[in-house]
Amino acid sequence: MGRAPKAAWAVPAARGPAATSAIGALRVSAAIPAALATPAALATAGTVAPETGGGSGVSELRWNPVLAEWVVTATHRQERTYHPPADFCPLCPTRPGAHPTEVPADDYEIVVFENKFPSFRRTPPEPSVEGDDLYQVRPSKGICEVVLYSSKHNGSLATSDVVDIARLVDVWTDRYEELGSLDYIDYVLIFENKGEVIGVTLEHPHGQIYAFPFIPPRPARELESAARHWHSTGRCLFCDILGKEIADGRRLVAQNEDFVAVVPFFARYPYEVHILPRRHVASLLDFADDERWGLAEILKVVLQKYDNLFGFPLPYIMVMHQAATDGREYPYYHYHVEFYPPNRTATKLKYLAGCESGAGTFINDTLPEETAATLRATAPCKLDPAYGTCGKCGAGAEDRGKRRGKGGGRGKGELTGEGEADGKSLGEGEATGGARAAERSVEVKEGSEA
Ligand SMILES: [Zn+2]
Ligand SMILES: [Zn+2]
Ligand SMILES: [Zn+2]
Repeated sequence: MGRAPKAAWAVPAARGPAATSAIGALRVSAAIPAALATPAALATAGTVAPETGGGSGVSELRWNPVLAEWVVTATHRQERTYHPPADFCPLCPTRPGAHPTEVPADDYEIVVFENKFPSFRRTPPEPSVEGDDLYQVRPSKGICEVVLYSSKHNGSLATSDVVDIARLVDVWTDRYEELGSLDYIDYVLIFENKGEVIGVTLEHPHGQIYAFPFIPPRPARELESAARHWHSTGRCLFCDILGKEIADGRRLVAQNEDFVAVVPFFARYPYEVHILPRRHVASLLDFADDERWGLAEILKVVLQKYDNLFGFPLPYIMVMHQAATDGREYPYYHYHVEFYPPNRTATKLKYLAGCESGAGTFINDTLPEETAATLRATAPCKLDPAYGTCGKCGAGAEDRGKRRGKGGGRGKGELTGEGEADGKSLGEGEATGGARAAERSVEVKEGSEA
């Protein structure tokens, strides 16, 4: 089996004043010979210098003294590209003679560029209001990057080859290191929002990276729990969880030499999956080559299972939790990836309603032991990107005509209704056959996407 080539970083030819910005220079000097710093080099992996764009509007951090957490205002994000016409994707390569996209090259493997509609900026505007002791206000200084996984518009991580995902792991590692090394960046969150129901406004396969000027609440809470466990038991909380899941076995989804994927005991979403390295490592930086490859492999297995679960590309939120980058040591923390798919069934979504939004307590309509068994039994083979069938196991063969919007007629009431008797849809036979109708909601969603 071949190893992933180390990602090469390139900055394409200048496209306006922004191309000479510090970030472009930094990346060229950090990585590659000048000869590679041409658009042609984007055939490997590259970075695009940030646009100065992003519109006008307000961007600031406002402190919520009640919950003791920051809220980010980013009013300019309202102006962002919203479902552009199918024949113009701003994330596709710029075809010769065609309208220029975000990527001034006719092909690429992986590209990273700064979000044009960022929630955080390297040089944020002054806050629109004055703060005081109770209502603290800070400039939203940070960085938001977009990571294009592939030049193929219809691709996804699930349909990428392991070698491509491994290259992406290298890129994530590079970005975590570089962004995390900045003195004003305390936390680097690598994530992907996938699917219209999650609020994705551009369907081209991509993820995002938010480099925060503070440690956001969920990771902060995990860090605190891990520190407490470490100090009271002398062990890593996540290593203990991993040991328990492996010993129990009922919630395992997949595993390889270096990683284990489980529906955690405490899953909040029916098909929530966490991927943990077997070895105690705090961040991507600590992975050996083999482990980076192992991560790519298990990501592909989990994502293929997801796509075969109901016979359509499953929407999800993927986040990576790793050590904070605020200059402190986190020997007690343990890297992991978390997936939150919103689907309870092929046609019903989990909404964050009164109990989740108002109390912060999740109600999971399913048992992790059962959904894990379903995912375990779901073939990890390739579902055709065009929503066809798998040549190996036939997943997705049935109900083909019902997919993608046909036979739908599903109102919002059905989606939000609680207590519907769809527990049987979790049966393995149905789920693994890919036989569930997969008409997806095409309602317009407010999103938080690039
Ligand atoms: Zn595209
Ligand atoms: Zn550990
Ligand atoms: Zn976590």
